Amino acid sequence: MNLELRLESVHEGILASGTVVVDVAGECGRCLDPLDYEMDVHIQELYYFETPAFAGEDDEDELYLVDDDVIDLEPVLRNAVVSALPFQPVCREDCSGLCVECGARLDDEPDHHHEIIDPRWAALKQLK
Ligand SMILES: [Zn+2]
Ligand SMILES: [Zn+2]
Repeated sequence: MNLELRLESVHEGILASGTVVVDVAGECGRCLDPLDYEMDVHIQELYYFETPAFAGEDDEDELYLVDDDVIDLEPVLRNAVVSALPFQPVCREDCSGLCVECGARLDDEPDHHHEIIDPRWAALKQLK
């Protein structure tokens, strides 16, 4: 991860904003080809000096505090990056995926198909 962050002192705390550049590695959800690309994620989070008065019990997990003059970026980065990742990554929007019969990669073999014999006619084929 590469971070370019700006930390600003504001009345309630420290405002952290900037860009995270992450290397994404995985595989295409359709054809299983490896994926490897860079993704930019923008973050902006206010770290409060103290729990603000408006915060209820339920909000406390979602608020970030400055703790002993230190801010913890990890949960903020993790949330931002994980929610920016595609739910089903693909190598190309129109990736055709794999043949369900034999697993051939359909983008490599555009004419790929199988003779599918209707099982009700299969017996007739043997008569030929
Ligand atoms: Zn693919
Ligand atoms: Zn096939």
